[in-house]
Amino acid sequence: MASFDDIVSLAKRRGFVFPGSEVYGGLAGTWDYGHYGSLLAHNIKDIWWKHFVEEREEMLAVTSTTIMPEAVWRASGHLSGFTDPMVECAKCRHRFRADQLPEKNRTEHICPDCEGKLGEEKMFNLLFPVPVGSIEGAGGTAYLRGEIAQGMFVNFKNILDTMHPDLPFGLAQIGKAYRNEIAPRDFLFRVREFDLMEFEYFVRENDLKCGVQRCGVGLIALAFRVRTYTNSK
Ligand SMILES: [Zn+2]
Repeated sequence: MASFDDIVSLAKRRGFVFPGSEVYGGLAGTWDYGHYGSLLAHNIKDIWWKHFVEEREEMLAVTSTTIMPEAVWRASGHLSGFTDPMVECAKCRHRFRADQLPEKNRTEHICPDCEGKLGEEKMFNLLFPVPVGSIEGAGGTAYLRGEIAQGMFVNFKNILDTMHPDLPFGLAQIGKAYRNEIAPRDFLFRVREFDLMEFEYFVRENDLKCGVQRCGVGLIALAFRVRTYTNSK
């Protein structure tokens, strides 16, 4: 039976997926799509867009920026809560996600790479900070988006004012998201840059009958969310 490594190597040989910036030593958690990989990704996005946006009357489209200011991420809770537990080895300086370490290494504070001593666990924020050139000091930090839903929320009023949709309606977009993973791994399944296809539905709270469902695949995660819109409109 083919191992996971066999599939990764086949995907590269056949022109689907290459490690990002490979000729200059690479950057963990980044992957480039070759000819067939690019065509496959475009086809998946096209089918999703046609099905969920073009064929649905109540779905509107938005395309927001991937860099957003600190205020957005403070309001969404990502600045305080979008974190993973991290430990660093005092000897080899490698960093690990504490909750993914073997039990023995975590409880006895032993580095799995060099057997050095692991430091205290700290919460590590997954948002990528971006220093914005024209603003110095506090307030000058923006972040690469860790998810794309904020693009729908910050444009909610713009969409209402320009499109005048009746409730319920959806807002959809496809685009890049970024997560500063401590230990990217598992091929395309835990990466630092990836595509999301997502929509948010805005409904009156008392009309909400369906539950929240989410599903994801490594190449492109599909996220379906139901958000409640409780404005008295
Ligand atoms: Zn170590």
